Amino acid sequence: MRLDKYLADCGLGSRSEVKTFIKKGRVTVNGSLVRSDKFQVDANEDEIAFDGKMLHHQTLFYYMMNKPAGFVSVTQDNQHQTVLELLNTADYRKDIFPAGRLDKDTEGLLFLTNDGLLAHELLSPSKHVEKEYYAKIDGLVTEETVKQFSEGVELFGEKGNPFKGELSVVSTNENEKSSEIRLIIHRGVYHQVKRMFRAVDMNVTYLKRLRMGTLLLDSRLESGSYRDLTKDELEKLR
Ligand code: URA
Repeated sequence: MRLDKYLADCGLGSRSEVKTFIKKGRVTVNGSLVRSDKFQVDANEDEIAFDGKMLHHQTLFYYMMNKPAGFVSVTQDNQHQTVLELLNTADYRKDIFPAGRLDKDTEGLLFLTNDGLLAHELLSPSKHVEKEYYAKIDGLVTEETVKQFSEGVELFGEKGNPFKGELSVVSTNENEKSSEIRLIIHRGVYHQVKRMFRAVDMNVTYLKRLRMGTLLLDSRLESGSYRDLTKDELEKLR
């Protein structure tokens, strides 16, 4: 196939964008600089690199990111930096999106993919995929709070069943009237964790997602970095 098609398939950009990359000398084939977009490559045999990074002729991508605070989980935003800006140019594809949002100030596990079907499965309310969070709370979380969460709390503006959560207390500080907790929820409405604590008159001061279904945040991933899902992680998600 033509080199420009190969690069566009890899998600580096549109055909005209990748032609510019080729002209600028950012692409090598088997170690040699190629400046012609019509150059023929063999997707199975040739080693094609962009800015020195080897490309894979792959169509579906699955990344686990340790989202830092300060980035929004959308594909485009005029005011804030998006999580997609944390991807290297060679890993970025126009069709990649975060499957499930985290607030700008929330950290932790974010799943990014261009596999719309899998994302739909994971996010579909009927699937009740568990989401587990670690949080710091302004307030003393007691056994009474644990009970309230297990029975369900009403969220302002949300109709229907109360929102339940499996709450466990990691530690409490009587002097500072603060707590560290873990919470597992099965639904996923806007600001759910923060709103559940507001419902019992407490505030979340720090929030980090640790798990989505079977997918656990890799503790070796530094804040702001990401990696491909392993074959095993992907199989368990499907
Ligand atoms: N609940 C929240 O309140 N915020 C998040 O980012 C995720 C869950």
